[in-house]
Amino acid sequence: MVVDYIIVGQGLAGTFLSWNLQRAGKKVWVIDQWQPRSASRIASGVINPITGRRMVRTWMIETLMPFAVDAYTKFGHELGASLVRQCNIIDFHPTPQMKLAFLERAPEEKEFLKLPVDENSWREYFEYDFGYGETDPCWLVDINTMLKNWRQQLEYTQSLSPTIFNWADCSISPQEIRYQDIKAGKIFFCEGAAGADNPYFKMLPYARNKGEALIAEIPGLPRTHIFKQGINIVPWQDGLFWIGSSFEWEFKDLLPSESFRKKTEQHLSRWLKLPCRVLDHFAGERPANMERRPFAGLHPVMPSVGILNGMGTKGCTLAPYFANQLAEHVLQGTAIEPLADVKRFTRVLSR
Ligand SMILES: Cc1cc2nc3c(=O)[nH]c(=O)nc-3n(C[C@H](O)[C@H](O)[C@H](O)COP(=O)(O)OP(=O)(O)OC[C@H]3O[C@@H](n4cnc5c(N)ncnc54)[C@H](O)[C@@H]3O)c2cc1C
Repeated sequence: MVVDYIIVGQGLAGTFLSWNLQRAGKKVWVIDQWQPRSASRIASGVINPITGRRMVRTWMIETLMPFAVDAYTKFGHELGASLVRQCNIIDFHPTPQMKLAFLERAPEEKEFLKLPVDENSWREYFEYDFGYGETDPCWLVDINTMLKNWRQQLEYTQSLSPTIFNWADCSISPQEIRYQDIKAGKIFFCEGAAGADNPYFKMLPYARNKGEALIAEIPGLPRTHIFKQGINIVPWQDGLFWIGSSFEWEFKDLLPSESFRKKTEQHLSRWLKLPCRVLDHFAGERPANMERRPFAGLHPVMPSVGILNGMGTKGCTLAPYFANQLAEHVLQGTAIEPLADVKRFTRVLSR
């Protein structure tokens, strides 16, 4: 079989890249080994313009957020599902110092940080002493529906191989890729954290990061907002809530840990006034990197090999825009944002 492009991985990155290329009339072949705990499948799906303890504006958010909302809306129409909705963050200040920090940042970030009209609005549901602020707008993506529906579409168009990509079956030249009985012009690696072992791109500055979350029933808690106090409570599928997460830079394994569960349950018992029943607990690895910028583009020495990876904690925000940039780069020769273009690593990738 002859296709235009092979894509390895169907997380957020591979999904958006294959969608963009297929929409442009190209034939794609997506190879993805289904992993229920891949980063995209366990992510809460939040697009948040202001992050971190220092409440810093997310890189390029003025461009990335509207682009992402538009892309999820259009993609949802095609897939017959609603994939994105506005869901602001209610940020309960854990200490008087954090409240002060919010009050100082709010006038500088008027576009996104809002003061509450009534500080008592959430007392029925939460115990809090120092008030709250609101991040507005934030968006919530239904990633699992998107991945599932797109996978079905790929199956329907006979464009999916639900298997592990096997390097022994692949031969790569600057002009052509051969994989098993498939011939393609280029191959793109969208492997998430597994990309750190890719022979073409393993020199990139990946930084492994583990995250854990609980899935719980919280009857009576409104699904209109994301609630935050150190951890986030996020509306999840099937009427449940996603609660997390941890950010671990050093870890022995990717298993859910007793310590995360205990710490999170203890925090919930002090903060949440409603009963909460934990039904699931999972852990996964974010494809993070030292620069906190994506890796998008073609290999500087082997231009038939491309990458879309390094989305770290922000795949929902970054993947729609950079998948589109990469597709346009390949199809029309337009430039990729220099801070995301993998060409910035030409020296290390040429060794
Ligand atoms: C707990 C947690 C919470 C998060 N919450 C958010 C959030 O709220 N908002 C946000 O923007 N981001 C969040 N993230 C980050 C987000 O999940 C990632 O940025 C994003 O999912 C990365 O997508 P990806 O497609 O690059 O990688 P992945 O989702 O890891 O996808 C890679 C795919 O490639 C497949 N694959 C890899 N190697 C092979 C191979 N050799 N053969 C076949 N298939 C292969 C894998 O099975 C997988 O399906 C969170 C991450 C975690 C862990």
